[in-house]
Formats: sequence, structure tokens, C-alpha cells
Amino acid sequence: VNSLEVSRLAYAYPDGTQALFGVDLAIGRGERVALLGPNGAGKTTLVMHLNGILTPGHGSVTVGGVPVRKDTLKDIRQRVGLVFQDPDDQLFMPTVRDDVAFGPANAGLRGAELDRVVTGALARVGMLDFAGRPPHHLSFGQRRRVAVATVLAMEPEILVLDEPSSNLDPAARRELAEILRSLDVTVLMVTHDLPYALELCERSLILSGGVIAADGPTRELLADE
Ligand code: ADP
Ligand code: ADP
Repeated sequence: VNSLEVSRLAYAYPDGTQALFGVDLAIGRGERVALLGPNGAGKTTLVMHLNGILTPGHGSVTVGGVPVRKDTLKDIRQRVGLVFQDPDDQLFMPTVRDDVAFGPANAGLRGAELDRVVTGALARVGMLDFAGRPPHHLSFGQRRRVAVATVLAMEPEILVLDEPSSNLDPAARRELAEILRSLDVTVLMVTHDLPYALELCERSLILSGGVIAADGPTRELLADE
């Protein structure tokens, strides 16, 4: 079973703007893939279909074999871990621990089981020592890592990151790259940062004008640009 399959996905906004014109792609378990493309290409629209913010009108999206539909949204939102571009859109609790516990607690985890999941997620992003701190006391790079942990705590099938390297200084950028490389989860990252894509993703997709214009090894696609 692939982590993600998108088949003939087309979408027009209510004002009539056609944003996607039949997108086909498949991402296998454990792959790390970059989604590249100019502004207006449809990247945000595609990502909004992956966790059901938008539900497919034409075509289909499946995550770990489960179709994205109105009646599967609860399952899909656990399976798709979306890391927003701005961590401050994702962190709103008094402490780092509370933020990371929020999703799993909401899903019914309690006590030792909840602690195990929260500790595991914070350890994977190197933020265990900051569990008791208020998120707004952390650096931007640390807040982004906590945002990744909030999503990892849900044990997603696929981690989707929007511009993960944006606003990071060189050290924070390197730390995040190491973390992403160390995870054993499927990753799709939307980015304009070609060196980051090259460094982290063996494979890239180029979305252009609402269609997949290229799909292949990042090294080869970027050499062709
Ligand atoms: P990104 O940084 O992902 O490329 P965009 O600049 O394309 O984001 O879009 C930012 C936000 O504005 C998104 O929520 C998008 O849905 C919305 N948006 C983009 N274009 C339009 C439009 N023509 N009409 C209404 N909303 C739009
Ligand atoms: P990207 O993320 O690659 O910049 P988007 O998915 O934001 O691209 O946009 C794809 C197309 O859809 C663009 O033409 C954009 O203007 C349009 N669009 C995005 N959001 C909206 C919206 N809410 N209403 C109408 N058009 C939109």
C-alpha cells in the first residue's frame, strides 16, 4: 500500500478558478519527496486535498489505502500530518508538552500511553529538554521542531511540510534537515528551496499550471531547470 495516491484530481474554486487539472501521483511508504513549482501552480490546493480541507470533486486521493471523503475525515486527519509554514499557527498551549499532547489526548490517549507518545515525538525532534517551556519562549527554529513533534505524536502515515526551511538560520536549517532525514515516516515537502530539496529528497514532483509537469530524481530535475 502506498502512503499517498492521487488520481486524476481536478479542482475549481467556487469563483471558477481552475487550480488543478488532473493530478496523478503516488508516493511509496518511507519515501521523501519534494513538491516544487512556481507560485499559483496549485501546490496549496493539492495539499489542502490531502487532509480533506478540500474534498475531491473529480478524481481521488487515498492515504495508506483510505480514500479522502467526508465520512473518512477523522481517520485521514490522523494519517496526514500537516506542518504549516508558520509554527505559531500550530502552537497555542501553555507548554510544549501540552501542545504535543493535544492531538493524541483528543484521540483518546491518557496516562502512561500519552506520556510515551509525547516523549517519543519530542525526542525525535530533539526538544525533550524543552517540554515544560512555553512555546513562545523558544526560537523560531525550535518552534518549528515542536510543530513537527505535534504532528509526529499522531503517528501519521505521511508528514506534509509547507516550506520547512523558511525563516531558519543556517544552524536551525541543518538541524531540521538531520531530523527529517532521521524519521522513518513518508515525507512530502512543499518548497521553493531547491538546495534543501536536493539535500533531503531523492525524488521531486514539479507542479505547474495545475498538472504534474515532472516527476523523477531531484538531481536530474534540477539539472534540467
Ligand atoms: P503559497 O505561499 O502557498 O504559494 P499563495 O500565495 O498561493 O500561497 O496563497 C495564499 C492564500 O491565498 C491561500 O490560502 C490561497 O488559497 C489564497 N489565494 C490564492 N490565490 C487566491 C485567489 N485568486 N482568490 C482567493 N484566494 C486566493
Ligand atoms: P501555489 O500554492 O502553488 O502557489 P495555489 O494552490 O495557492 O498555488 O493556487 C492555484 C491557483 O488557484 C492560482 O491560480 C490561485 O490564484 C488560485 N486560488 C487559490 N486559492 C483560491 C481561492 N480561495 N479562490 C480562488 N482561486 C484560488
